[in-house]
Amino acid sequence: MTKNPTTEKIYQGIGVSPGVARGTIFVYKIADEAVPEYDITAEQVPEEISRFEAALVETREQLHELQERIATGVGSSAPSSILDVHISITEDPALLEPVMSRLGADKKNVEYIFNSVAQKYVTTLAEMPDEYLRERAADVRDVADRILRSLLGRQVRGLADLPPGTIVVAHDLSPSDTSSLDRKNVVGFVTDVGSHTSHTAIVARAMNIPAIVGLRDASQYLHDGQPAILDGFSGTLAVEPSQQTLFVYGQLAVKRQTVDDRLAQLRELPAVTLDGHELTLAGNIELPEDVPGLITAGAEGIGLFRTEFLYLKHADFPDEESQFQKYAEVARAVKPNSVIIRTLDIGGDKFHSDEATPAEMNPFLGFRAIRFCLANPEVFTTQLRAILRASAEGNVKIMYPMISGVGEVQQANEILREVMDQLRRQGIPFDENVDVGAMMEIPSAAMTAEIIAKEVDFFSIGSNDLVQYTLAVDRVNERVANLYDPTHPAVLRLIRNCVEAAHNNGIWCGICGEMAGEPLYTPLLVGMGLDELSVATASLPRVKEVIRRLNLVEAQELAAATLNTTNSREVLAMLNTLLQRIDPDLVN
Ligand code: PEP
Ligand code: MG
Repeated sequence: MTKNPTTEKIYQGIGVSPGVARGTIFVYKIADEAVPEYDITAEQVPEEISRFEAALVETREQLHELQERIATGVGSSAPSSILDVHISITEDPALLEPVMSRLGADKKNVEYIFNSVAQKYVTTLAEMPDEYLRERAADVRDVADRILRSLLGRQVRGLADLPPGTIVVAHDLSPSDTSSLDRKNVVGFVTDVGSHTSHTAIVARAMNIPAIVGLRDASQYLHDGQPAILDGFSGTLAVEPSQQTLFVYGQLAVKRQTVDDRLAQLRELPAVTLDGHELTLAGNIELPEDVPGLITAGAEGIGLFRTEFLYLKHADFPDEESQFQKYAEVARAVKPNSVIIRTLDIGGDKFHSDEATPAEMNPFLGFRAIRFCLANPEVFTTQLRAILRASAEGNVKIMYPMISGVGEVQQANEILREVMDQLRRQGIPFDENVDVGAMMEIPSAAMTAEIIAKEVDFFSIGSNDLVQYTLAVDRVNERVANLYDPTHPAVLRLIRNCVEAAHNNGIWCGICGEMAGEPLYTPLLVGMGLDELSVATASLPRVKEVIRRLNLVEAQELAAATLNTTNSREVLAMLNTLLQRIDPDLVN
């Protein structure tokens, strides 16, 4: 943080969604100001103790209920170890005893006392040399938040109803947070944790609003109502900006608007290189609400519909009819272009409800996506029926996530065939020739792409996971974000393998991870022979611009050269030089 003579403060994080927003900060947590402080009499102490005990009981019940939901919903009979830890925190004498003793001594209301005891406890744990205890600090904070919510009743404001021009600041935003978000009034996101491929970043790009992640403890020191300027290109947040900063960003906004207006002219034009090589430039969505923005940006269909977000909004899995309505709505909206509907990819960083913290030690390596669906055939079958029914309404393709080898594709296809038989017997129409694809996002799949290609109609590379699994770098952890490198020679070789395997077998290969939306990488992806790029709304015009200013031949030469380098530094240098030449306005 740097200070200048005004009250302005500048913070630096990781810019993950382009654009500049001016707005007012709303901190999504229980701010200290939301916790009232008032005196009580000695006679009122027992009443406060009862309120506290009731809040503890309610919290324990919520946690048990959640545990049950995880056990049944995720198909595991083992209780979640994290929730066991959370339940034990509600009984932890180090947290409860000081509350009881201070109630009698300080004669203050219980939420005030509990908040200050909990904060002190969290700070003490966070400073412990022992790593296990340090990690417990986050658990105590979660549970304390839950107890406070119970004590405060409905007083805590959520994300569903925000004033216009809100910059949401949070420790992190979970999929269930963003699925309840008041999308029309939010102009930007700032989170303490995260990286380019974390959920907050993906949602911000889908909403076409700027975002900064990895601002460490911003949610602790920023306050509701502070004016701020958020620069999603550079990752800079200016709080209480000075006149000078307002002026600089005002100028920048004009310049960027000019570039955006120029790129908006490309909307109706195809994604074709100067020498006539045409690609499909499609868009990624999480909810049907994302479609109009993508169409306005000029997307040729949907290359990735992340259907798990329909599930995250509800406590139960949605039934066939409600899924069918959503899928059909999107299919009709993009017709005659296609929509690739990805089957449920729950797990990893996407959970069923906001309380449902991962029940596994390594959720990204755990019971996720196709693994979950193959183990829960009723959930899978319901979704496949809904997708197939929607295929009669437009151009629908089906895609399986997290494929690690051909066996999973064969199993999934077998279930798909049974569902098709069932629909035929019932006389329900669907597209008999519906295309089926596999996501290439696990190195074992990318390395055996030749085998998998024989079982599907297309591949789509999920670079977010492919990079994570290839380099063993957590895609949502800001502390290793500098190691998350899509241009690593190992990643490039796996991408090449997928494309070659696809083409050798007469099928096409696209890419729908965040790498596809970064204009810097566009020449490389075009040169490597990708047939489709599927990107977020915020990225689409820039990527189209690069494709249209590129020669396929030079892109192929670049791809060949990058595959001959030994490190990504050289690759990035080549890509930067090329982008600078193609359109310097796109260089950040
Ligand atoms: C990916 O992994 O690149 C991808 C597109 O899927 P998700 O980000 O939903 O895991
Ligand atoms: Mg993925």
